[in-house]
Amino acid sequence: MFFGLLIALQLTAPGYDRVILGGRVMDPASGLDAVRNVGIQNGRLAIITTNAISGRDTIDATGLVVAPGFIDLHAHGQTPETYRFQALDGVTTALELELGTADVAAWYREREPGQLINYGVSIGHIKVRMAVLHDSGAVMPVADAAYRAATPAEISEITRRIETGLRAGAVSIGAGFTYTPGATRDELVALFRVAGTSRASIHVHIRPGVAGLEEALGLAAETNAPLHVVHINSAALAATPQMLEMIRAAHVTTEAYPYTAGMTEIQSATIQDQYRGAPEARLAEMEWPPTGERLNRESFARYTKVGGPIVIHSNTEAMVLAAIASPLTAIASDAYWRNGMGHPRTTGTYAKVLGHYVREAHALSLMEALRKMTLLPAQRLEPRVPALRHKGRLQVGADGDITIFDPATVIDRSTYREPSLAPVGIQHVLVNGVPVVAKGHVVAGITPGKAVRAP
Ligand SMILES: [Zn+2]
Repeated sequence: MFFGLLIALQLTAPGYDRVILGGRVMDPASGLDAVRNVGIQNGRLAIITTNAISGRDTIDATGLVVAPGFIDLHAHGQTPETYRFQALDGVTTALELELGTADVAAWYREREPGQLINYGVSIGHIKVRMAVLHDSGAVMPVADAAYRAATPAEISEITRRIETGLRAGAVSIGAGFTYTPGATRDELVALFRVAGTSRASIHVHIRPGVAGLEEALGLAAETNAPLHVVHINSAALAATPQMLEMIRAAHVTTEAYPYTAGMTEIQSATIQDQYRGAPEARLAEMEWPPTGERLNRESFARYTKVGGPIVIHSNTEAMVLAAIASPLTAIASDAYWRNGMGHPRTTGTYAKVLGHYVREAHALSLMEALRKMTLLPAQRLEPRVPALRHKGRLQVGADGDITIFDPATVIDRSTYREPSLAPVGIQHVLVNGVPVVAKGHVVAGITPGKAVRAP
């Protein structure tokens, strides 16, 4: 009687917490591309099989691709609002590795109760410099941290705080040379030396063009720092093919986002230095998001006093296509959102690559695009953050970070005028085994996202 009941329970009880049935499972790490059933137990992938399986919860993935959740190496914002935007675009891990933070311990503490998706941060040279040189800028340096050379004592203090951030578990080091033009070569060498000694990757917004890349490659070679060049699309513009070749030859890593326009703060040094003395025709590259107007000398001066993000139309579609199609680039959004305004890349980067560059333009295969969204970013960070060996893959034992989308319909919808629109075709997104997007809608009131942090 007792044994009979036990057997009956085993036959009828669902085997897994959650199952994803009948989807086209694509795993860039193993090359698996076949219809499979996936079982999740305790937040991890427990089985991938052709056999029938059951669970307490079932997701029907018939006709859909089941992929590892997307890992974004470059996501500003890092608020519940941007985590929501990014979840709808298939992102399960959002990392702020360029600007970063000046206080790693506090940054993680603020997010500790859990977030919608996984999150992580770098110790940021820009932010540390703002703290040490007492800059008044709200987001980016606008005074001493932008333009003044640091004293030897201040350089020591900056590197000491970078080391403190790494000890607190920062994923990497962040830097942006165009935001801190006052930093001397001595300061940058000291910064890169910390990266070289600690083997933490240093994610750098380089100065524009070939000379900017040569400078960063020189610093990395001199200090043995593991260099990652952020948004090669906007750093290289017309020199994109040449700079990708330099990156390949130097064995450093890079990333790109799929838009011809960039965005940053109008008061930042990178905008002021570029456009203050520029001819009127170049000022029209800038678009003021609240009105959509292109700028001239008068409006540039006026909006500089106001402050806020500015759209910069500076690249061509041919160069963006070269950056997105390259096997060297991780897809990284550079998500940018503040006070209800931002760039459409915040909400549409991954859907745009899958819908436009894969399906419509045939610029790269679906598996290759997925590799650049999952495995490539995970592998970049694994030496310092071993936990990422369990992300970016769809394999037994991996974290239950999964993005399920319709390859026939997936596409972004956001525009520069309307940047908050969710894409279509991203159907289900799971973070640590828990659905955060179901049938294209965010699931409210849950926080399965965990900290991604160096040990
Ligand atoms: Zn940048």
